[in-house]
Amino acid sequence: MTEKNNINTIISDGNDNEAISKASKILKNGGLVAFPTETVYGLGADALNEEAAAKIYAAKGRPSDNPLIVHIADKDSVYELATEVPEKAVMLMEAFWPGPLTIILNKKKIVPDGTTGGLDTVAIRMPSHPVAMKLIKESGVFIAAPSANTSGRPSPTLAEHVIEDMNGRIDMILDGGAVGIGIESTIVDLTGDVPTILRPGFVTKKMLESIIGEVEIDKAIIEPDPNLRPKAPGMKYTHYAPKGEVTIVEYEDDGINPDKDKDESPQSNDKKVIDKINSLVEKKNAQGYKTAVIATKENAPYYKCENVLIVGEADKGVTISANLYAILRKCDTIGAEYIYSEALNQNELGGAIMNRLLKAAGHRVIKAN
Ligand code: AMP
Ligand code: MG
Repeated sequence: MTEKNNINTIISDGNDNEAISKASKILKNGGLVAFPTETVYGLGADALNEEAAAKIYAAKGRPSDNPLIVHIADKDSVYELATEVPEKAVMLMEAFWPGPLTIILNKKKIVPDGTTGGLDTVAIRMPSHPVAMKLIKESGVFIAAPSANTSGRPSPTLAEHVIEDMNGRIDMILDGGAVGIGIESTIVDLTGDVPTILRPGFVTKKMLESIIGEVEIDKAIIEPDPNLRPKAPGMKYTHYAPKGEVTIVEYEDDGINPDKDKDESPQSNDKKVIDKINSLVEKKNAQGYKTAVIATKENAPYYKCENVLIVGEADKGVTISANLYAILRKCDTIGAEYIYSEALNQNELGGAIMNRLLKAAGHRVIKAN
């Protein structure tokens, strides 16, 4: 096992069996281990050990009312954690586990309040990443794991991002390289009459409905409304935000897109967005500020900005989700003070991606038309 020892945090190759054994011992003894999952890197502790779970909150600076997702390696484990498992939950588990779907069920007493933020419900997920699987199996514990970032920062999609935020605060990091999906799991609450999405993710409403029929989306996460409280406590906090001010510039679609088949130069709607962003950048640069643009690959060549960060092709949701957090972190590395982003909604993961981007932008949106 090759180890790099940086200020008390061991960083090891997550594919190394010896490293997994060491990480498992740390978890069993109540310590903290960051590990890759297919969504983002998680910061793990023994979910049934309240003191261990408390260390996660301290390391992240996470508000104590924001509950943790419990990761399992075997579908049967759900019955150890939840008082009842409705049929729709079983159908979703069969369809999407292991994978990027978290389900909320009523909790059994063995799940401590310290893991669920005092709620009577528990969030459960079976990840598909081989390192996560091995770690849960070998440690023999259910692993409570939020994203392994400092609270409020973009979630980590590389071990280097975990090092940036957590070095010296946790016992070990298992490096599994870049994660595949790049945004957090879809969360579905199955404790009410109608299954409700509390956080959009890779598993879309349509995919869920194809298995269990009608699914709602928690209204509080669609439009920010001070009178509505999101059912997932974590969704009310600012998140993913770089230090600079992020603004989304979008064209309000009227459903008519006459240039749709032209792909030589930007389509007229895109051109309006590009012109608007260029004029905003020019203004800020003239005032002496450092700027960055978050752009789709197609439009990138047309921006007049020193930092054009390409997030992927407009219609490739999986590429955009995989790149988004690393790009938001890059904005900090380059010291961008004003960041302008295209709306990234023209793809199959548009809802989940825009949910994160809007939070990073504090819901600051400017229309280009
Ligand atoms: P993270 O693990 O950092 O991606 O955050 C986990 C998300 O799951 C947060 O938004 C939590 O508020 C939410 N969550 C965890 N447990 C529950 C629960 N029992 N009920 C509702 N939301 C939950
Ligand atoms: Mg998080």
